[in-house]
Amino acid sequence: MAGRPGRVWLAAGLAAVVCGALALALFARPSPAPVAGPPGERLLAASRGLDTVDIQAAFDPVGRTVDVDQTLTLQNRTGVTQRLAVLRTYANAMRSEDDSPAATDELHDLCYPEGFSPGGLTFRSARLQMAGGSEQGATYAFGDDAHTVLRVTLPGDWLPGETLILRLRYTLAVPRAAYRFGETDGIWALGNAFAIPSPYVDGAYLDDAYGSIGDPFVSECRNYTVAVTAPEGYAVAGTGVSTTEAAAEGAVITRFAAPAVRDFALCISRETRSAQTAQNGVLLTVYARAADDARTLLRYAAQALACYDARYGAYPYQTLTLCEADFPLGGMEYPALTLIGSAKIKAGGETLEQLVAHEVAHQWWYAAVGSDPVRQAWQDEALAQFSLLDYWETRYGRDARDSLQYALVDTAMRLTIPQGVTPGSPLDYFGDLTEYGIVVYNRGAAALCALDLAMNGGLDGFLASYYDTYAFALTTRADFETLLARYTGEDWSPLLSDYLDTYVDS
Ligand SMILES: [Zn+2]
Repeated sequence: MAGRPGRVWLAAGLAAVVCGALALALFARPSPAPVAGPPGERLLAASRGLDTVDIQAAFDPVGRTVDVDQTLTLQNRTGVTQRLAVLRTYANAMRSEDDSPAATDELHDLCYPEGFSPGGLTFRSARLQMAGGSEQGATYAFGDDAHTVLRVTLPGDWLPGETLILRLRYTLAVPRAAYRFGETDGIWALGNAFAIPSPYVDGAYLDDAYGSIGDPFVSECRNYTVAVTAPEGYAVAGTGVSTTEAAAEGAVITRFAAPAVRDFALCISRETRSAQTAQNGVLLTVYARAADDARTLLRYAAQALACYDARYGAYPYQTLTLCEADFPLGGMEYPALTLIGSAKIKAGGETLEQLVAHEVAHQWWYAAVGSDPVRQAWQDEALAQFSLLDYWETRYGRDARDSLQYALVDTAMRLTIPQGVTPGSPLDYFGDLTEYGIVVYNRGAAALCALDLAMNGGLDGFLASYYDTYAFALTTRADFETLLARYTGEDWSPLLSDYLDTYVDS
């Protein structure tokens, strides 16, 4: 176009100068650190009226201990009068080679590369206060050889709806172990370390053994507040939104607020690098030994979060943290916190991306929608595996999804499984971890793939409804099947039974 080119160029030049100045100003200003958004309406609503757990923990890396002062305010929600409160103290399973789930023939050398190392939990005091009464010493005993079932005898009736305050003081001794609870090469994993109330199901407190196969923990949502005192220089990662403040003698206190979570886990390290971003109000943080790995893990986790947000409904918590640990079994999920095994990080590539996608999916299927991983382990593992296929399709397209489904799911249907175990079998039916992985993860996912096919690709819609209905609750297989029938107007229990309860003789 003709006309007054001089002015146009002048204007363009001025604009360039202004833009340049703006850009300089933007570059000069340090970008603010990403932060967690406020708790969403859904999370706030879920947290109202829940039991509370407060933990004051002092970490001593030299003594290899954590001193814990834990106060639990518990309401009797069992519907019947109780004379007993039952908590699980899983850390105690690490006391001896006989009881440690990490000391089986299959795992011993992986988890104890320098030989067996004991850990556990020693009580300093246990006190309780019943409604209207004063605090008094609690009488307790362990109900199992491994000392993981803590039975507190109550001095009077604990009536339905009444509140009981339990104050436990104990010391955790952290074993040298590459496991959920253990330290290796300066990374301290404190998973299933703190005492946790045992759910009361069908007229009894659950007292399942802490075995080596699967994740044998059933837990309910509570509001956690935790303060961890650690020496300066340690990164203290945990479930929930955290703040730090200086304490006396070079110590730092990290405080966590974690509403409506079914467990609380920590991962403490000194030599790790971190990477962080905020996405839709969720603060994503990764700790890994190498900065490159932290950035890679952050990218995978952010992608997985976005994928599942879109497919199943918004991530329920304000934070999600991934921590590298020498966990030999791939990854381990806790609410808003996941341990990622170093071996998988070293392997990198698709193996690592698939692991992260599976683990992040557990925030929907385990952390938010709780189920029973002892008796129906497929209900979180197969769903996490199906979510991985969804993730793979979002990232790489339909053909890539089909190839991955073939490699993981279809292949698992053709492998010979020596025993008559099915995805619906309880954990103690499985002979080893390989068999458990093939059957529960991948044959379990086959049930969901078959269902998705029969529903013309409609399973994601159902999963969104399942998440919406049961987030923060503990669901059963019957809940899953009943909602599925209601959602589709069809009874899918014969199909599910074919896959989940029928032995495939290949
Ligand atoms: Zn899993």
